[in-house]
Amino acid sequence: IKFISIDDKNAPGVKIADPEKFKLAARTFAKALLEHPVSGEGLPTYGTNVLVNILNEAGGLPTRNFTTGQFEGHDKISGETMHDTIAARGGKVKHGCHAGCIIQCSQVYNDKDGKYVTSGFEYETIWGLGADCCIDNLDDIALADSMMDDIGIDSIETAVMFGVAMEAGILPFGDSKEMLRILKEEIGKGTPLGRIMGGGAGSVGRAYGVTRVPVVKNQGIPAYDPRSVKGIGITYATSTMGADHTAGYTIATNILNVGGFVDPLKKDGQVELSRNLQIATAAIDSTGMCIFIAFPALDIPECLPALIDMINARFGIALTGDDVTNLGKHILKLERKFNIEAGFNSSHDRLPDFFKNETVAPHNAIWDFTDAEIDEFWNF
Ligand code: SF4
Repeated sequence: IKFISIDDKNAPGVKIADPEKFKLAARTFAKALLEHPVSGEGLPTYGTNVLVNILNEAGGLPTRNFTTGQFEGHDKISGETMHDTIAARGGKVKHGCHAGCIIQCSQVYNDKDGKYVTSGFEYETIWGLGADCCIDNLDDIALADSMMDDIGIDSIETAVMFGVAMEAGILPFGDSKEMLRILKEEIGKGTPLGRIMGGGAGSVGRAYGVTRVPVVKNQGIPAYDPRSVKGIGITYATSTMGADHTAGYTIATNILNVGGFVDPLKKDGQVELSRNLQIATAAIDSTGMCIFIAFPALDIPECLPALIDMINARFGIALTGDDVTNLGKHILKLERKFNIEAGFNSSHDRLPDFFKNETVAPHNAIWDFTDAEIDEFWNF
């Protein structure tokens, strides 16, 4: 499902139990969002693509199907280049993906003639088709983003898949024109090759006998190398949904110094960091809030209480901070119970072996968590 459209004609509107309290809390909440350097400045200026240069600098930008951590062409696909390109072509550098958003990390990307190509052009898509596939042409990546939207395939899974397909020799690394042709003529038309490739990274790995296949629970690992940003590796391994970076976005604390700092190259504190973030994220997700409110929520003391006040004022209830934490724990445990009953066990909470056997430049980092250390995640 790409979207659901709702006709709100004659709908009664949302009833708010205490409108005054809601308004007051909403004001505090909005102020926190706008004051935080990530949600108030970085995201609205460069979008999530602000991360290309940051991750490249940190050596955690998976490149050439996860064989190295820095991409030579990073500047050409960076948020800074994207911002200037959009501005020069009359697009929108900042844009809300829904009417109420005050962060506005989305954007409208036009082609050389000023014609609309895509919007919501995300870091993970640009990283995947860019660094991971060694493509440094932002226009071709934007076109692919638009095509993936039209076909209805996920732009992270498909990008990770193309990295594996390039390693398999289906197309050369860096060949953006062949990548576009495959999207249109093979995946878009459902040819036999298109069905294998449209099935994702795991599907191509199995069909072509590739062993370097970055997936967990058959879901493609996104834009942060777990060997050099270890906290996110714990999230990839343990998330009930597969390798989902948003489930417990440790990049905040490992790389962006949000909510403190935990050294990305060391094992210390990563399990606890991922666990706390996954609990908080499960709770925030269940409110319907965008994950990007987590940045101010981690750093600005008034932000999270204001969100809880808004929920309380909306429903006329009295949730506390502890209730919210317990809600997050309950959600995670329920999801895990679902997985266990569907046949998953702790052996599925693992990264692919190549992360343990191959170091990644520039830090010579390796995935060095034992199974017991990973399994400690569920101890709550
Ligand atoms: S709701 Fe979130 S994802 Fe959408 S534009 Fe706003 S900040 Fe970005």
